[in-house]
Amino acid sequence: MTYRAPISDMLLALNHGAGLQAAVRAGHYGDFDADITAAVLEEAGKFATDVLAPLNRIGDQNGIKLRDGKVTTSPGWPDAYRRWSEAGWNAVSGSEAFGGQGLPLAVNAACTEIWSAANIAFGLCPLLTLSAIEALDAHGSDELKRVYLGKLISGEWTGTMQLTEPQAGSDVGALRTRAERAPDGSYRITGSKIFITYGDHDMTDNIVHFVLARLPDAPAGTKGISLFLIPKFMVNADGSLGARNDIHPSGVEHKLGMHASPTCTMAMGDHGGAIGYLVGEENQGMRCMFTMMNQARLGVGLEGVGIADRAYQQALAFAQERKQGRAIGKQGDGSDPIIVHPDVKRMLMQMRALTAAARSICYATAVALDVAARATDAKVRTEAAARGALLTPIAKAFSTDIGSEVAYLGVQIHGGMGFIEETGAAQHYRDARITAIYEGTNGIQAIDLVTRKLGAQGGAAVFALIDELSGIVKQVEASNDPAFGSTGAKLREALGALDRTSRWLLERLASSPNEALAGATPYLRLFGATLGGCMLASEALAARQEAHGGDTQRHVTLARFFAETMSVQAPSLEKTVTDGADSVLGADAVLLG
Ligand SMILES: Cc1cc2nc3c(=O)[nH]c(=O)nc-3n(C[C@H](O)[C@H](O)[C@H](O)COP(=O)(O)OP(=O)(O)OC[C@H]3O[C@@H](n4cnc5c(N)ncnc54)[C@H](O)[C@@H]3O)c2cc1C
Repeated sequence: MTYRAPISDMLLALNHGAGLQAAVRAGHYGDFDADITAAVLEEAGKFATDVLAPLNRIGDQNGIKLRDGKVTTSPGWPDAYRRWSEAGWNAVSGSEAFGGQGLPLAVNAACTEIWSAANIAFGLCPLLTLSAIEALDAHGSDELKRVYLGKLISGEWTGTMQLTEPQAGSDVGALRTRAERAPDGSYRITGSKIFITYGDHDMTDNIVHFVLARLPDAPAGTKGISLFLIPKFMVNADGSLGARNDIHPSGVEHKLGMHASPTCTMAMGDHGGAIGYLVGEENQGMRCMFTMMNQARLGVGLEGVGIADRAYQQALAFAQERKQGRAIGKQGDGSDPIIVHPDVKRMLMQMRALTAAARSICYATAVALDVAARATDAKVRTEAAARGALLTPIAKAFSTDIGSEVAYLGVQIHGGMGFIEETGAAQHYRDARITAIYEGTNGIQAIDLVTRKLGAQGGAAVFALIDELSGIVKQVEASNDPAFGSTGAKLREALGALDRTSRWLLERLASSPNEALAGATPYLRLFGATLGGCMLASEALAARQEAHGGDTQRHVTLARFFAETMSVQAPSLEKTVTDGADSVLGADAVLLG
């Protein structure tokens, strides 16, 4: 079963749920013409269906190979990558000064969903290149930008992000890779990294590695980390490729999923040290890395949305074909497609609603980041930056959690065939699992949400958002549309739970931080369930306003389903946070007793 990008749903989420249209109207996007979004997504959808989706299974079955220090990707991948970058897809949101198209991040976010849905292991490569581009653009010297930025934006070269070492996973500050100053102003890097995505491959002539390392006189922990750009091949003055640099893949991992995405152990310094160039300032690497990671966290959230939509599309098709049992009350012989059964309908609706909510949250994050970068008014930029920062951990963790949940339901709908590899449902389930782990585990995202994002300025960004969401609820209530059922009431209760839980956490952050941390993950879920419900309601309201006939009913029913079955979990998640902390903190009696 192939993949078709759900363009009209994506446009509704982007324009209305995420607020792109309002931001364009307010002038925050300069002269960007929002009308071209549909055409861009249509073309991306075609490329994904025709070129990337057919390679998804091939990649899963063939994986990658490491031979003689070189990684080879699956059959057809280098050619697909060449076509993809030549068509300009890598350059969608890149800076025009370096050959990019300068389109909003929000448009690229929708494209990222499409690549991830069609072929998540393929899409991961440019996702990381984009993060490298952001870091280089924001922090690199003019000379580094001149040599590397254009090639990264065009996709002629790809980028990697290298943080992880065996003793330094979530705790990045524990990394040991060393950087020594060289007389010519460059650095010599020695050490090794693990789990490096696309650390080597055969899809491009060169790879630009972004590596975190520590100078000999650096302070301990995250304050002593610097970011270095290390090319696989050195670049000559005329732009041609020179000598092989001292950074090599020394191993590749065998994984649960994402078989086609190389996950490499990287060795630096076997021949005197890899030549690296400082990005930003010495010991300021975490700042640069956060630029990369925030971008990548949104990208990984979009992977969650993409894989969820792919699993949903496949399950829906299967449920319409597979016949088992009879619809209750139906007369006559023969069996019905399983989609007639309420329990199967429930699973499909859950898949669809979770996917749509996560999509809107991710797109809203991208719009906030766009406005933070593009608006002319400084106050608007500051508020948008706070909104983007608040939404990033939710976009990453909520979307990737639901990616796995939706893929799980996809397997369930297939029954036994879901457990058999040939349907592809199992691949989505396997591929989805890593997204909750890399780019900062979802536990780390939840901690970031509670301590840094809620914790900033007494929760100002959270309460401003709650206020805004209350406005949507009022509109639902004012519509007096019976098709919304109890959507308004359920969302109001959810917002109340979010507000109270946020205040409880703020108080505990000051008085008993461990209690706040114990509730971080359920709080993030509560946030996603409330925010997602309100955003789907706002999309349904927009669909009603545009009077899209049957389409209106589709969106209202989806919003209602989410509010009445997902957002209703908010009050019990509130209890999980506030009443559960004691027993979490008393866990040692059970776990170690
Ligand atoms: C396929 C794949 C691709 C990857 N790609 C890259 C890449 O390109 N570049 C790169 O640098 N890395 C990459 N990684 C590494 C990835 O980012 C890490 O695996 C991840 O950040 C978690 O680190 P860890 O595996 O050491 O787990 P650990 O940090 O050991 O965490 C184990 C568990 O403990 C929890 N935990 C840890 N610390 C805390 C804390 N302070 N509070 C609460 N809970 C905590 C975690 O949430 C997790 O559940 C990749 C990993 C994989 C598997």
